[in-house]
Amino acid sequence: MTPTPEFEIAIVGGGPAGLSAALILGRSRRATVLFDAGAPRNAPAAGAHNVFTRDGTSPHELHRIGRQQLTPYPSVAVREVQVVDAARAEDGTFVLTDADGRRTTAAQVILATGVVDELPPIDGLRALWGSGVFHCPYCHGWEVQDRPFVLLAQSPHALQLARALRGWSTDLTICPVPPFVIDAEEQRALSELGVRFRAPVQRLVAGSDGTVADVVLTTGEHLGPAAVFTSAPVRQRSHLPEKLGCLLHTEGMFAGQIQVDDHGATGVPGLYAVGDAAQGPQQVIVAAAEGTMMGGFVNGMLLLAGDLPRGVVAQGTKGA
Ligand SMILES: Cc1cc2nc3c(=O)[nH]c(=O)nc-3n(C[C@H](O)[C@H](O)[C@H](O)COP(=O)(O)OP(=O)(O)OC[C@H]3O[C@@H](n4cnc5c(N)ncnc54)[C@H](O)[C@@H]3O)c2cc1C
Repeated sequence: MTPTPEFEIAIVGGGPAGLSAALILGRSRRATVLFDAGAPRNAPAAGAHNVFTRDGTSPHELHRIGRQQLTPYPSVAVREVQVVDAARAEDGTFVLTDADGRRTTAAQVILATGVVDELPPIDGLRALWGSGVFHCPYCHGWEVQDRPFVLLAQSPHALQLARALRGWSTDLTICPVPPFVIDAEEQRALSELGVRFRAPVQRLVAGSDGTVADVVLTTGEHLGPAAVFTSAPVRQRSHLPEKLGCLLHTEGMFAGQIQVDDHGATGVPGLYAVGDAAQGPQQVIVAAAEGTMMGGFVNGMLLLAGDLPRGVVAQGTKGA
């Protein structure tokens, strides 16, 4: 007889999406394990904005609260370790191997593993990511409103972003990131709106407060202090989605994200994806909401199938 998997559900990733899924599954008394390697995507930023009741709270603090609020639910085991390998056995059970070499089995898996930003290779940029260089006006536009904006155009998405940025500053300069070439017709239309176009950026100079004190172009021109925005593409943070058979979008607004249906199902039986990793908007509150919906859906499907929760397992809990 096939042994019963150790956990009903394993969640890989403890950012807003994974923590929210763990919360609802804990409250649903499902035997759940949450793996988290730490450092959510927005860790470099001082505050997370547009987060209902927590506007401007640091990502570290959000993570701390999320973890602390799991502690009343002993059916959730938290493991602060990276899952380095995963496989789906013939009977449908998932086997996860973590960086400590431990193997864990689960009947279903929720991937909440997030994405990473493919930042352009511009000197000084990485150190300013999240403090002087941003990707989203909804997250950081308010803080830098009406300052000179410089947009690093890496893809056609940049030209859409340019139109959005004008809601926070009409002082906007666009610099292409080679090999991307700005379409002449788009350039003409944006120029008519007062947007300036310049040469590619060679380096960014940091001010003492983490802002961009100067933008130096490959032509030697200096644009001075600016809030810099990127249109960097994203890629999966973990190799697990592809290893387990998920399909990724290769183009369009969801490029790099996992293809899922309206319920977060990946097409691989028992495998779900939520948050930034899966197609859809990339925001803290959205990722958290998706985690809640996902957890509720998985529990609901189990109940409909007559699978009652295993209740309290209280094993392997580590950290607060
Ligand atoms: C600089 C910056 C600033 C941002 N500011 C804002 C903002 O102000 N407001 C806003 O709404 N959004 C903001 N965002 C977007 C926001 O960070 C994301 O939408 C949100 O973090 C997505 O949550 P998530 O849980 O899907 O993924 P993440 O937060 O990326 O969390 C994924 C988690 O999975 C873990 N993980 C991955 N692989 C494994 C593995 N194999 N094993 C174990 N754990 C694993 C990671 O360690 C990580 O903890 C910002 C993004 C950036 C880059």
